[in-house]
Amino acid sequence: MDTQRTLFRKLDHLVTGDAAGTVASAVDILVEGGRISAIGPALARDSAIEEVDCSGLVAYPGLVNTHHHFFQAAVRNLPGLDWTNLTLMQWLDTIYPLFARLDEECIYQASLVSLADLVKHGCTTAFDHQYNFNSNMGSRVVDRQFEAAALLGVRFHAGRGCNTLPLDQGSTIPDAMRETTDAFLADCERLIEAWHDPAAGSMTQVVIAPCQPVNSLPETFPEAAALARRHGVQLHTHLAEGENATMLQRHGMRSLDWCEKNDFIGPDVWLAHGWEFTPEEIKRLSASDTGLSHCPAPVFLVGAEITNLPAMIDTGLRVGLGVDGQASNDSSNLAECIRLAYLLQCLNARNNPLPAPQPYDYLRMASSGGATCLGRRDIGELAVGKAADFFCADLNGLEYAGAAAGLTSLPAKVGFSGPAAMTVINGRIVWRNGEFPGLDEGLLRHTADEVFNSRLGAVLGPLR
Ligand SMILES: [Zn+2]
Repeated sequence: MDTQRTLFRKLDHLVTGDAAGTVASAVDILVEGGRISAIGPALARDSAIEEVDCSGLVAYPGLVNTHHHFFQAAVRNLPGLDWTNLTLMQWLDTIYPLFARLDEECIYQASLVSLADLVKHGCTTAFDHQYNFNSNMGSRVVDRQFEAAALLGVRFHAGRGCNTLPLDQGSTIPDAMRETTDAFLADCERLIEAWHDPAAGSMTQVVIAPCQPVNSLPETFPEAAALARRHGVQLHTHLAEGENATMLQRHGMRSLDWCEKNDFIGPDVWLAHGWEFTPEEIKRLSASDTGLSHCPAPVFLVGAEITNLPAMIDTGLRVGLGVDGQASNDSSNLAECIRLAYLLQCLNARNNPLPAPQPYDYLRMASSGGATCLGRRDIGELAVGKAADFFCADLNGLEYAGAAAGLTSLPAKVGFSGPAAMTVINGRIVWRNGEFPGLDEGLLRHTADEVFNSRLGAVLGPLR
């Protein structure tokens, strides 16, 4: 059991992330065994307690990322591969053959750099939706993602994805990336046994996450749901991101109806995207207590309908934020997505009869909202009894001049212009003053690029 005691002293301010928007000033945080045991001014000191000077800093609740595809770090920012000059089908035809060349070492390196990027910018719990299991992969892809998260000290929820529909039956995924439902379910079961920890304070959880209905055989989703419920783990998939026309053509129903029919909604499910949901569908989702990961970057990139967050908030839907994979974001920074999500809704505020969320609501989506999507009550707010997950910002830089009075709205309206000053996960400092303690950031970055180039250099050639 972790018995480490740490006193984070003299924070200028602390944004709790609670519903009331409570901000405390001139406070300390005492952490014992990875949990917050006290928050208050000038807490008692003891020679047995390690101390960390936080003067000049503002603490925010650790961010919780609810949707990502780490492997796509290997193919980001490719010149010529832009959403602005390609149709979706052209984009898929270019990107999927690249995905199919990646191997286990690539996934490991991509997971390391994506997770590290998230941590640098205040994320403390990360979910990844790994659905690339091509014929180059070994059998320990997700295990190695857990190893990457452990190296960095990040709380990690691994989504074990899959694609089971053959290309000649309408899939958009090359057959080299296809698995059988049985192989998928067997690996899910193995991973749950090896890594899933449901206890409070858990650092590792497994999520069963078939990629999307349009690339799955009919039995994949209901069998995945049944397996998840036998083991008490969460379910996740992409939904309402442009596939409804295909679903109507293929199954005679919209994708939410199809998910209802296949038991793939409920309090143990959260869905990525959802920009196609109608107000009536949002009500049904909310009534079923299904969660939603809103990823603003792909809405901008693919020119999708603006996600109806006002209706989602109005019905009490659980909403978290996600960066999405770097093939539809090119970045892995959740703090940036708080501002993107805010700006996106401002664009549509006059067209929606319901009020837009308030700026502070976006910080809460990225913290406590994300925690509810992942089914966790022990993270998401800076409060006594919660896991000691937070990040600190130094707002003394000129980019915050005149803006630091509104601490709760700052993440959405101003945005954080650089890395966090410090990120703490489970009471441990995992990022501080520009360094990952015990790790060489330059080496992480160059090793990843070497591996990516060795697998993709021949096909990308001058694109790199
Ligand atoms: Zn995605």
